[in-house]
Amino acid sequence: MSGIVVIGAGQAGASLVAKLRVQGFDGKLTLIGDENVPPYQRPPLSKKYLLGELALERLFLRPESFYAEHGIELLLGKPVRAIDAAARQVMLGDEVLGYDQLALTTGAEPRMLPASMGGDLVGVYPVRRLADIDAMAPEFAPGRRVLVVGGGYIGLEAAAVARQRGLEVTLIEAAPRILQRVAAPETSDYMRALHEGHGVKIIEGAALARLTGAGRVDGAELADGRQIAADFAIIGIGITPASALAQAGGLTLDNGIAVDAFGRSSDPHVWAAGDCASFPWRGARIRLESVQNAIDQAEAVAENMLGAEKPYDPLPWFWSDQYDLKLQIAGLNTGHDRIITRKTGAACSHWYFAGERFLAVDAMNDPRAFMLGKRLLEAGRSPDPAALADPETDLKSLLR
Ligand code: NAP
Repeated sequence: MSGIVVIGAGQAGASLVAKLRVQGFDGKLTLIGDENVPPYQRPPLSKKYLLGELALERLFLRPESFYAEHGIELLLGKPVRAIDAAARQVMLGDEVLGYDQLALTTGAEPRMLPASMGGDLVGVYPVRRLADIDAMAPEFAPGRRVLVVGGGYIGLEAAAVARQRGLEVTLIEAAPRILQRVAAPETSDYMRALHEGHGVKIIEGAALARLTGAGRVDGAELADGRQIAADFAIIGIGITPASALAQAGGLTLDNGIAVDAFGRSSDPHVWAAGDCASFPWRGARIRLESVQNAIDQAEAVAENMLGAEKPYDPLPWFWSDQYDLKLQIAGLNTGHDRIITRKTGAACSHWYFAGERFLAVDAMNDPRAFMLGKRLLEAGRSPDPAALADPETDLKSLLR
């Protein structure tokens, strides 16, 4: 009996193995990770953990003993070398591990700047793994200058932490505005004002020529010749799905490992979930880079590996904490043609529509708007835009 092997001990892998046991799978179960720590939560890395407000043990998804107690063999610090899908084997160094079914929860890798742009200088950090945060932690001393490259969630969350810890922060974004990939101009404007109010210097439409320094980074030069001095740099320029093993193993790729609605790859014995997997969703093929997707898709895949045949049809949602702001997003705004703004006191929300169809909401310190938007999307309902824009409208009435 070869059992089930799961490659990738992040949120998706940990959720998958736990769900298999909850669903009654009592065969051999192995979870393989290339880091030396048990599966941990990633969202606090760029927030509370970087702020120094969360102890390491609190990051772990489960105590290490959980895995042994549930008969899950946890192989840590073991990068998988190759997959032989035809022989149903995984190559780990010199070891060979057979499987009946394999799940790939390999996640994603941070995009880095090439060495020709100074990406290999000392003092340049990605924000993806626990080791990345531990390595940059000593740099966070009041008065030091950090350059943040990229104005997505990673860059903005790191900028917020750095300001809270008394550093001088310059953030450069290549696109015309921060959060361009995920949010409307209205939300970018709100977030820019928030950060500038906290003293972050934001430069948008900034083409980075190179990071400068001899050995260690000392700043950056933009394509227009501007120079920025810095003591260290944080890189948050997006991620790419970790699909090299799948590719070498002959699986079909399409923006990551292509799986069907059940999470099955082009090989019927191999499944994938989380950041590394693209799946069919409402007429398109998408990859969702969110912790909620890592959990929910992995759990759906666990059930389907045991024969449930349940299609995965998520309602995407995201959140980000920066300073005292809680940004919550429900839905995907792709294809929107108008935005309704709703403001009540300090709470603000942006509602995205395609024609009359409601697609998504960005809620800033407005948990009621987020909850209601999520419930409307779950029910497949579109609120009346005029009623929505009227601050006198009780949001709950839109559900009736
Ligand atoms: P991201 O959301 O893709 O944002 C990266 C940003 O950096 C993009 O706006 C990108 O612009 C820009 N950029 C790319 N190359 C650049 C360059 N050379 N100079 C300056 N800017 C550049 O990715 P991320 O912020 O790195 O986050 C990584 C992943 O973690 C994402 O999936 C993110 O959603 C996830 N995450 C989520 C949360 C949350 O939900 N709270 C928190 C942290 C991370 P272009 O689009 O023009 O390339």
